[in-house]
Amino acid sequence: MDEISTPIVGFRCWVLELGRPVLKSVAMRYEWPAGQVAEAHCMCSPHEPAKHPAPDERCRCGLHARTTLDGCTEEYPYYPVHGYWAYRSAPTSGLMAMGAVLMWGGTLRGKRVIRAQYSRVLCLTEKPDLWAPRSGSNDPSAVSAENVASRDETLQAICEIYGVPMVPYAVATRYAAEFGDLTEGSDLAA
Ligand SMILES: [Zn+2]
Repeated sequence: MDEISTPIVGFRCWVLELGRPVLKSVAMRYEWPAGQVAEAHCMCSPHEPAKHPAPDERCRCGLHARTTLDGCTEEYPYYPVHGYWAYRSAPTSGLMAMGAVLMWGGTLRGKRVIRAQYSRVLCLTEKPDLWAPRSGSNDPSAVSAENVASRDETLQAICEIYGVPMVPYAVATRYAAEFGDLTEGSDLAA
């Protein structure tokens, strides 16, 4: 594991609870703290005290992010619809948010995924083609106008409470790069 001196930039999605300004982890029952630093703890065996600091190379723990914004889209092809059934914490019809985070402390870096001990949210961003029709059972164009509006309001409230801006997708990587280093896989040239 690397102990890094300059924080690095990552990109990730969160699950939303409409009407409640909270960014929720996708895979774990964890809410990212508003206006504070998120600290990773190994939750892979929740009934025992953690056996190691998070992240750990032999474990899946740590705060997760992708190295690129496009990586988020690749991970959730129906974004902003969650679309996966695999996690009990989030219904497949749940809506998501996307943004950039700063990561530091103990850090594990791959080509596509970063795991870190500490992280904070830098900004949220919105894809331009957000509600475009996609084939499959989680087609974003089928989301009700009421839920689209409610998601907008929830995102606005999150920006306020977390103290972060909503940055256009095309410049979000450049914005985030002001705070830390981009890693392998990132590309500023667009
Ligand atoms: Zn662990």
